[in-house]
Amino acid sequence: MSALPIFPGTVSESGQPATLGVMGGGQLGRMFVHAAQRLGYFTAVLDPDPHSPAGRVSHHHIQTGYRDAQGLAKLAALCDAVTTEFENVPAAALQTLAARRPVAPGAAAVAIAQDRIQEKSHFMASAGVAGVRCAPYAVIETQAQLQAVPADLLPGILKTARMGYDGKGQVRVRDAAELAAAWAELEQVHCVLEKMLPLQAECSVIVARGWTGDIVSFPPQLNRHVDGILAVTEVYEGNMPPALAERARVATELIANHIGYVGVLCVEFFVVDDGSEHGGLVVNEMAPRPHNSGHYTMDACDVSQFDLQVHAMAGLPLPRPRQHSPAIMLNLLGDSWLDAAGQPRTPDWQAVLALPGAHLHLYGKLHARPGRKMGHLTITGADVAGVKAVARQAAAILGLPGFEGAA
Ligand code: ATP
Ligand code: MG
Repeated sequence: MSALPIFPGTVSESGQPATLGVMGGGQLGRMFVHAAQRLGYFTAVLDPDPHSPAGRVSHHHIQTGYRDAQGLAKLAALCDAVTTEFENVPAAALQTLAARRPVAPGAAAVAIAQDRIQEKSHFMASAGVAGVRCAPYAVIETQAQLQAVPADLLPGILKTARMGYDGKGQVRVRDAAELAAAWAELEQVHCVLEKMLPLQAECSVIVARGWTGDIVSFPPQLNRHVDGILAVTEVYEGNMPPALAERARVATELIANHIGYVGVLCVEFFVVDDGSEHGGLVVNEMAPRPHNSGHYTMDACDVSQFDLQVHAMAGLPLPRPRQHSPAIMLNLLGDSWLDAAGQPRTPDWQAVLALPGAHLHLYGKLHARPGRKMGHLTITGADVAGVKAVARQAAAILGLPGFEGAA
C-alpha cells in the first residue's frame, strides 16, 4: 500500500515517478488527467477503447476491460493511487485494486451510487436527518410489487435501478397499464417507480472529502436539462435562494459523511413547489466522481473539481474553493456538429472564440452523434448580466437549446 500523501514529482523506491490512475477514459478522465499532469504527476488510464478521450492524453493507457485481472494488476503496479471517472465501473474491480493501493472513492460508495434502490435508502438515512427526502417511490422487483404500487405514485417515472444515465433506462408512465407495459419493455429488471414531481428547478452540489474526513464544497449549481441531458449550468450569487442553497450543501455533506466518502461527490436535487417559502428540496441521485455540472469550476474557481479529485485521492490538503467569476456552462452535444439534414458540419468556432470570457473545452471525440457530449463552453465575466448576454450570443451561434430562461 502506498503511503499517503503522495506528492507529485517524487520518485518511489522502485524508481517510478508518482503516478495517479483512473478507471475509465471518457471526458471526465481526460480532465482528471490534465489536472494531475499540471501538478506534475504521471497518469495511467484503464479503458478498453483505443481512442478514449483520456487514454489519448495519459502517460499510460491500459486497453483492457474493467474486470480484466491482468489490466487491473498492471494499473495497481503503475499507480500510487487510483480513482474512477465512470460510475458503472465494477465495484469488484475497485476492491481488487484497493487490496494494493489507496482507491478513492471506495468500492462500497460506488456500489451504492450504481443502484438507485440502495442510493435512495442511503439518502433517507443521511440527508433525511436534515429533512431532505427523495421523491416518493416504490421498489419494483417482483410482479407482486408491481401490483401493489400505490395509485398516488402515478403519473410517475419508471427508472432501472442500475446502468441509467442521461435519461436512458427511464420511461414516463401515466397509469397502471402503462406502468406494467413499461416494466415489460425494460425486461422486468429491478426498477424504482418515482412520482412525477412538478419541478421548479434542478440543482447540484459538489463536495470533496479527504481520507481524514475534511470536507469542502463548491457553491450549488443551477442546472437545466433538455431531453434528460444536462444543457446549461449557471453559478453565481443569487442563482437560487440562499436558504435553499445552504440546505442543499448541508444535505450533500451529510450524504458524503454518512459513508465516509473519499473523493469528489456530486449530489443532484430537484426544487419543487411544496408551499414553503423557498420551495422544497428533493434529493435525486449522486455521482461518485466529478460531474458535468461542475465543469465551470475549471474556469470560474481558483481550484477545480478535478484538482480536488487529485488532492483527495493523493491525500493532499483540500483547499476551500473560491469562485472568482460568475459562470454559465453550455454543454456541446453532437447535434451542433450536424446540420438540419444530419450532414456533418463544423460549428462556427471563429465566432464563438471571439466572444469575451468564452472558454472552449473539446474532449477529442472524432465522431459526433446526436446527444453525444463532445465538449462544453464556459462563459465567465465581471458581472452576471454580462455573462448572460455572452452566453445568449454563444447559444445563438451554436443553435443550443435550453437557454431561454436567462433572457
Ligand atoms: P444523469 O445523466 O443525471 O445520470 P439519469 O439518467 O440518471 O441522469 P435522472 O437524473 O434520474 O436520470 O433523471 C434525468 C432528468 O429527468 C432529471 O434531471 C429531471 O429533469 C427528470 N426527472 C427525473 N426524475 C424526475 C421526477 N421524479 N419528477 C420529475 N422529473 C424528473
Ligand atoms: Mg441525473
